[in-house]
Amino acid sequence: MSVIEVKNLKKYFGKTKAVDGISFSVEKGEIFGFLGPNGAGKTTAIRCMMDFIKPTSGEIKILDRDAQKDSVFLKEKIGYLSGTVRLYDKWTGKEHIDFIKELNGKNNIANDLIKRLDFDINSKTKSLSSGNRQKLGIIMAMLCNPEVLILDEPSMALDPLMQHEVYHLIKEASDKGTTVFMSSHNLAEVQKICSRIGIIKNGKMVAMEDISTLRQKSMYTINISFENEINSSDFKLDGIEIIKEMPKEISLGVKGDLNPIIKKISNYRIKDLDIEPASLEEIFLEYYGN
Ligand code: ADP
Repeated sequence: MSVIEVKNLKKYFGKTKAVDGISFSVEKGEIFGFLGPNGAGKTTAIRCMMDFIKPTSGEIKILDRDAQKDSVFLKEKIGYLSGTVRLYDKWTGKEHIDFIKELNGKNNIANDLIKRLDFDINSKTKSLSSGNRQKLGIIMAMLCNPEVLILDEPSMALDPLMQHEVYHLIKEASDKGTTVFMSSHNLAEVQKICSRIGIIKNGKMVAMEDISTLRQKSMYTINISFENEINSSDFKLDGIEIIKEMPKEISLGVKGDLNPIIKKISNYRIKDLDIEPASLEEIFLEYYGN
């Protein structure tokens, strides 16, 4: 059974088709990355999933319950981080955290989260920087070990060290069985932790892939310098692009299997060789650029 099941979800604001018929499912313990540029429809889809706005049409099921009809039940099961963390100005971080603890009861990992995110719980939230508001939002979403985490841009406003810590926290939660749905506009970021990614553009899902499948669509740049002059036509093979050539140097773009080109290279005496794998961003642009 999928933990999150979205079928043909549409949300129109007048003529704006913010979400225009997206479908996807997320399995238990999976970390699904919901990627897209600003304005693509990510937050709108998430707000429908959380039942903050009513979809124009489509079906959303979380933990086999209807997102609208069983919204109260689901709110207890879902740890949610909004893209704009809303806080009560007159309270401190501690008061926010205690409030959630009281609502949800018993087991919580608040102290561990506070320590690992280096969060000062005693300041009034009115005076918090955007990074600290984000930390508090993450603590509140994660503190009761929810079955499902829905995170809208979790790394926003955090410095690289803290982003890294948040990725660790998300990964640990998924290792314990939490199902994670997170949005991001940064592919490099989600490739670090997500098992699968969906790309939304102009309200439509334009691609959906396992990270492992994406990696099989591997691409490399190979830079070689040789001891002697080369005949560059030796390197004209299927899937190979000659990016730059000089009498004793060549740069090649390689798609897929590296073996045929390595064989060709080994016919020459090599001075220096460097093989650089492409980032997922480059792979996506190559395969889904249009
Ligand atoms: P993302 O989260 O990917 O940046 P959004 O879901 O916020 O994208 O926005 C998708 C589109 O829907 C944008 O064109 C945005 O202007 C529009 N939109 C979002 N919310 C509203 C709203 N409440 N009223 C009208 N248009 C909206």
